[in-house]
Amino acid sequence: MKGLKTIICMIGTRPEVIKMVPVIRALKASTWAKCVVVATAQHRKLLDQMLQRFNVTVDYDLDLMQANQGLNQLIARMLPELDEIIKKEQPYALIAQGDTATVFGSALAAFNAQVLFGHIEAGLRTYNLQHPFPEEGYRQMVSRITRWHFAPTIQAAENLKNEGIDPNKIYVTGNTCIDTLLQTVCEQPAQEKAQKRTILLTAHRRENFGQPLINIFTAILEILKKHPDVDVLYPVHPNPNVQKLAYKMLGGHERISLCEPLDYFEFVAAMQNAYIILTDSGGVQEEAPSLKKPVLVLRATTERPEAVQAGASHLVGADIERITQEVGCLLEDEAYYGSMQIEKSPFGDGHAGMKIVSIIENN
Ligand code: UDP
Repeated sequence: MKGLKTIICMIGTRPEVIKMVPVIRALKASTWAKCVVVATAQHRKLLDQMLQRFNVTVDYDLDLMQANQGLNQLIARMLPELDEIIKKEQPYALIAQGDTATVFGSALAAFNAQVLFGHIEAGLRTYNLQHPFPEEGYRQMVSRITRWHFAPTIQAAENLKNEGIDPNKIYVTGNTCIDTLLQTVCEQPAQEKAQKRTILLTAHRRENFGQPLINIFTAILEILKKHPDVDVLYPVHPNPNVQKLAYKMLGGHERISLCEPLDYFEFVAAMQNAYIILTDSGGVQEEAPSLKKPVLVLRATTERPEAVQAGASHLVGADIERITQEVGCLLEDEAYYGSMQIEKSPFGDGHAGMKIVSIIENN
């Protein structure tokens, strides 16, 4: 494949696959690029589930996950492996999505090897290095050494401009998760109207481990006591900090279904069937407004303020009273519920992957 420019696409965790797939597909469909997929496998099980689901062929699998591995150890093991791949493939560019250790390690490896780095989902900020940790630090540091900043929204682009980044290197593309979501919804059989009102819950963020998770689960139990017509579906993240507590506090309740993390297609169907979504996940905050599902964000702050500003999501933290009160309003007040169903998602139109690939080709 002489004359083609090699683009390395990095993936490490579940959301990185979901959000990189549109870019991989657009690269593979292009006439100018050779797409090389590198998995760090920072999270093995959830990554494999998604790779299989989307039929992604991995060219290099670094298989870096180890039990109780620190972030320094993970990144230290990643760098020499990436160096070897860069030497062998001689890429034109390396691209990564989001704010994980994989993204930070990839950007650093590209920088040291003087390879252009493209950052998908650039410009998200809370400006609090502890919330979320380590993601806020990683995304801020990566922005210093990026050639193409693919901002999902105007606000994310503004954050970057306010940090002094050259506006000519910032491109507003929308979020690639909307590409994957809209295509999935199109391909899925139509969902039947749910008989019961289900609350879909996901919670896995480090900042919620311990007391915040206890509060969230206590709120769930109170909600079910007050509303006998409601049930809860909770795909439990495999992190032991989450799993043990979830099964201890919620296991065995007749209206709570605890299950393994769902395959993406099943999870999209679960979002479509849900009446309300309670989550601390970034991706779910972005996806739910496109499905017209009200989202209560189980965090004190969010780097996705666009959905809050548009009225599609409310920040409730891990506060028992706020969670129960907000859920109560949504269950009892149809007008309130309707006010959280917005017409147009602030996170994009479903064409971000194509835009990103065209920008790399032409800039
Ligand atoms: N997701 C999934 N199965 C689940 C829960 C979530 O496929 O059981 C998807 C969800 O649709 C979203 C992504 O995983 O696209 C979010 O991943 P996660 O919450 O792990 O990470 P974050 O978005 O917070 O970085």
